[in-house]
Amino acid sequence: MAAASAAARGQRVLLLEKNKKLGVKILMSGGTRCNITHDCDVKSIVSAFGRQGKFLHSALAALPPKEVIQKIESQGVETKVESTGKIFPVSNKAIDVRDALVNLALTAGATIKPEQTVLEIRKSGNQFRIETQTDVFECDALIITTGGKSYPGCGTTGDGYQWGQQFGHSIIDTVPATRKYSPSQNEKLASHDRSSTETVPSYSHTGGFPAPQYSMLVAPSPDTPTAAHWN
Ligand SMILES: Cc1cc2nc3c(=O)[nH]c(=O)nc-3n(C[C@H](O)[C@H](O)[C@H](O)COP(=O)(O)OP(=O)(O)OC[C@H]3O[C@@H](n4cnc5c(N)ncnc54)[C@H](O)[C@@H]3O)c2cc1C
Repeated sequence: MAAASAAARGQRVLLLEKNKKLGVKILMSGGTRCNITHDCDVKSIVSAFGRQGKFLHSALAALPPKEVIQKIESQGVETKVESTGKIFPVSNKAIDVRDALVNLALTAGATIKPEQTVLEIRKSGNQFRIETQTDVFECDALIITTGGKSYPGCGTTGDGYQWGQQFGHSIIDTVPATRKYSPSQNEKLASHDRSSTETVPSYSHTGGFPAPQYSMLVAPSPDTPTAAHWN
């Protein structure tokens, strides 16, 4: 979506993806159906997140749920609102949502290069120098969209945290945002100790906005909470 938006604003955009397949995490989302968004306004989403909702304000104001649906439907993917208010593709196939996002980026003029693992990013003057296992790219601006650390098999190994920090962003301690739990786990959750979070999914957030020429995309948004949610 970031690649599509930047390209639609006339930027020259290059999206680098570690995996051969694009959007692997989207394919497993919503039990492979992809819960695209919720049938409500921005205010309702913000308040559903409690005191942390404020953090979502600017992102949701820039891209409210209705606009997300318009963009997905613009690529020929029909959507439906279920009785819970959750919005899914009519096909119940997450791959249709993934394809819509890829097509949005491509039709806006972005170039996508799969199988490019970013290993190092350096800044020299006003230019970023991005090194992958096979190539070197230079750009004026970059968006880091490497995701969090959950499900590392999807390619999301938390690579973006170090780059965010390297360029002056503060990285807060990562703590779980998505975790299935059963009532019997309540006690453990209640006595949750931050020092024991390494083995469970976690997230953090950094960002930026593209300027002229190439924008390299690597970076995150927190995984949608499905059950327990704390920090
Ligand atoms: C089981 C599960 C179910 C979910 N269900 C839903 C749902 O129904 N609805 C919903 O809205 N959300 C759902 N989510 C959350 C949603 O999938 C994530 O919030 C979303 O995928 C985050 O998008 P992202 O672009 O920030 O990161 P990701 O989708 O994680 O993408 C980051 C990409 O960066 C790539 N990358 C990482 N490091 C590098 C590197 N060094 N070089 C190059 N590329 C790199 C990765 O390979 C990956 O493809 C679910 C998550 C999980 C795990």
